[in-house]
Amino acid sequence: MPDRHASTATLPLDLVSEGEQARRVAVLLPLPLTGPYDYLVPPELAEETPVEAGSVVRVPLGQRELAGVVWDQPLDDSPAEAKEVPLEKLRPILEVFPVPPLTEVARRFLAWVADYTLAAPGAVLRMALSSPSALEPPRPVTLYRRDEAVSAEGLRLTPARKRVLAELEDGPARTLAELAQAAGVGTSVVKGLAEAGLLEVVELIQEPAFAAPDPARPGPALSGQQAEAADALRRTVKEGAFCVTLLDGVTGSGKTEVYFEAIAEALAAGRQALVLLPEIALSAQWLERFERRFGVAPALWHSDLTSAQRRATWRAIAQSNAPVVVGARSALFLPYPDLGLLVIDEEHESAFKQEDGVTYHARDMAVVRAQLGEIPAVLVSATPSLESLNNVRKGRYRALHLPERHGGAVLPEVTLVDLREDKPAKLEGLGPGWLSNALRQAIAETLAAGEQVLLFLNRRGYAPLTLCRACGHRLQCPNCTAWLVEHRLAGRLQCHHCGHASRLPPACPDCGAEGSLTACGPGVERLAEEVSALFPEARQGMMTSDTLSGPEAAAELVRAVQDREVDLLIGTQIVAKGHHFPHLTLVGVVDADLGLYGGDLRAAERTYQLLHQVAGRAGRAEHRGRVFLQTAEPEHPVMQALAAGERDPFFEAEAAARRDAGLPPFGRLAALVLSGPDARQVDEVARALARAAPRGESGSEGVTILGPAPAPLAVLRGRHRRRFLVKAPRGCRLQALLRRWLGQVKLPNAVRLQVDIDPYSFL
Ligand code: ADP
Ligand code: ZN
Repeated sequence: MPDRHASTATLPLDLVSEGEQARRVAVLLPLPLTGPYDYLVPPELAEETPVEAGSVVRVPLGQRELAGVVWDQPLDDSPAEAKEVPLEKLRPILEVFPVPPLTEVARRFLAWVADYTLAAPGAVLRMALSSPSALEPPRPVTLYRRDEAVSAEGLRLTPARKRVLAELEDGPARTLAELAQAAGVGTSVVKGLAEAGLLEVVELIQEPAFAAPDPARPGPALSGQQAEAADALRRTVKEGAFCVTLLDGVTGSGKTEVYFEAIAEALAAGRQALVLLPEIALSAQWLERFERRFGVAPALWHSDLTSAQRRATWRAIAQSNAPVVVGARSALFLPYPDLGLLVIDEEHESAFKQEDGVTYHARDMAVVRAQLGEIPAVLVSATPSLESLNNVRKGRYRALHLPERHGGAVLPEVTLVDLREDKPAKLEGLGPGWLSNALRQAIAETLAAGEQVLLFLNRRGYAPLTLCRACGHRLQCPNCTAWLVEHRLAGRLQCHHCGHASRLPPACPDCGAEGSLTACGPGVERLAEEVSALFPEARQGMMTSDTLSGPEAAAELVRAVQDREVDLLIGTQIVAKGHHFPHLTLVGVVDADLGLYGGDLRAAERTYQLLHQVAGRAGRAEHRGRVFLQTAEPEHPVMQALAAGERDPFFEAEAAARRDAGLPPFGRLAALVLSGPDARQVDEVARALARAAPRGESGSEGVTILGPAPAPLAVLRGRHRRRFLVKAPRGCRLQALLRRWLGQVKLPNAVRLQVDIDPYSFL
C-alpha cells in the first residue's frame, strides 16, 4: 500500500479500507488547519448510512465535537512531515449527518479555491458549512387536525369551538398558533377540543422548502435584440456545458429580463440556478421583478439572515428544495446538489471581492465553479470590468450586446462642469458651497418642471476632515492612520475604518483654542444643508448607509422616491445600484474626481464605472435625462469618455496602459500585509521575509517584489501594517512561489500575514 500521511487523502476511499472491522477515512474540518485528519468508520455506523466521500460527519477533536466532510481531494498544502496515525489510535466518526454528501464538484471547488487563494482548506470548508445547525434534522412540529373518527354530533359546542372545527373542515393540519389565529380564539380552546378527542395531534417533520418558481409563466414581450440574447442564453443553458457569456448592455436595456430567460431554461431542465448580486440587502426591486416573472420569491442568502433563516435556507438548498438562490458572494459556497446556471449581476462590482478571512473574488471563483461543474456562467454589466472585456477579446468569453435602452428611452446628455471656471459660490451663514452655478440652475429647472433630482456625493457624514484654524491640527483616529469624519446628524466624529466614535471637542485638543475647529470639505450631510438653503421647498431624501438602518428602510425610501414623495435625493454610492426612478431626470455628481486618486490601479476604471452607473439613473422613462459632472479636470480621459458616451476608446487606452505596466489582467499581482500591535516587531518580520524573498530561483523569472513598505493605512485598529506587492507575469505559478517563500519564515504569534491574490484594495 502506498505511503499515506494523515493529512493527504488522495486515494479513493475503497483503497484505504482496512479489513471488515474498521475503515480509515480522512475528514476535513472547518478549521484553519493544514489538511484533513484521519478517523475510523465504525462498522455499525457504516451499516446505517454509507460513509462516502463528501459525507458530512460529526467527529471528536480534543474535547470538542465538530462537523466535517469525508475528504478525497488532493490538497496542495499538506506538510510533508505529517505522520500516518496508526489505526488503533484513530478516533471514530460519531455520526453521519442526515444531509446529502457534498458533491464531487463542490469538493473539487473547495480544494481549488484553497489552492488559489492560499487559504487553509478548512477555512474554505467553513464557508460551505456556514450553518452548522442545518445539519441536524428540523425539530418536529405539533399539528392539529380533525379526528374524523370522533363525531361531534350531539355535543354542545361553544361558538369558539365551532369556529375551530369549521377552520379544519377542509384545511390541512395546522399548528396551535396558526389554528387559534385563523379561528380567532385563544389557544386553550384548541387544546380543549384536543382533550375532548375531537382533534388529533400529529408530530410532523417539515423540511424547509422554497416554492418552485414557474418557468412557464410568461415574461414581458422581448424586443428583437433582447429576444436574440435570451435565445442565445437559453441554448447555452440547454447544452449545459461550460461557457462564459458576458451580457454587456447599457443601463435599462433589459439585461435582467434577458437572463431571467436563462434561469427559466435551467428551471425547466430541473436544475438549480444561482444569481450573485453585489448588494443583496438593497435589491428589493430585483426581488419584485423576480416574483413578477416566476410567481414566487427565490431563496435569499446574505449576511443579514437570522440564524433560523440560514438554517432553513442551507438545508433547503442541500436537499434540492431551493430551485433559485439569490445571494451575496458567500452563496457561491453553498451545497448545491445540481447547479445548472450561475449568473453574476453587476460583475464589475468590487463588492464581489472578499477582503478578510479567505480573500477571494466571487466573480472569478464563480467562473471556476462553472468550469468544474461544466455549466454556463453569465456575467452581466453595463460597464464590464477590464478583466472580462479582455477575456472577450481573447475569445475566452462570448459577448452578447444590448446597446439600446428598453422602450426607446435615450441615454442622458452628459455635461462637464469645469470647477476651475464655475466656482461654487459661498452661502450666507454657511460658508463654502459645493454646487456650481450651472448645476444650481439645472436643479431649479428640474424642480420647476415637477421632476426629480439626484445629487451624488460619495462621502458619508458632514465633513471628511476637521481642522483647527488656530494651529492646523487635524482630528485623527487614535487607532488608525485616518481622519475622523464628522457626522453632524449623529453628533459624533467617526472613523470609517475601525468604527471609533467620539464627540466633537469644544476646543482644539492640541493647542486648546476654543471654537477654532472647522469642517473641511463636503459630505452628504453638508450638501443637504446647502440644498435646504438654496431650495427650501424641495422635499429631500437621503440615501446613505448611515441614514438607512436596513433593507426595509432602503425599500421604503425607494418607494417614496417612486411615488414622488421626494423631489431631491442625495446619496452615496448605494444610489448607483439598479434603482429605477422614472421621474428622475437630473443627476448632479458633486465631485466627479473623488475616486481618481490614491494609488489604486483600478481608480480610473472604477470611477468610470461608478459615474456611468450613477448617470444611468437619469431619464429612464419617457423623459431624456441630464447629467452634470462637476470636475476640476474635464480633460481627464474618464470625464471625456463619460461626456462623449463612448466607452471603448477609454477602455482601450486603459488596457494599453496596464499592458505596458504588466498590471492585471496582463500580469498577476499578490499583496502581502503583515500586521501586529508592535511596529518594531512587524518591521523585523518584514525584513526577514524580504531576506527570504525568491530571487533568481527557477519559477521566479520576471517576478518583482516591492516592499516592505508601510501600508497607506499604516495603522489600522491599532495594528501596524507593512505591505509587499508581488508582480508576476501571467504564466507564473505565483501560488507555488508564494508557498515556498512564506514557508521559510516563522511568524511570531502577534504578527499576522494576510495574503491577497489579485488584490483590489491597496490600502
Ligand atoms: P438593465 O438590467 O439592463 O438595467 P432592466 O432589466 O432593469 O435593465 O430593465 C429596465 C426596465 O425596463 C425594467 O423596469 C424592466 O422591467 C423594463 N423592461 C426591460 N425589457 C422589457 C420588455 N421587453 N418589456 C417590458 N419591460 C421591459
Ligand atoms: Zn480608526
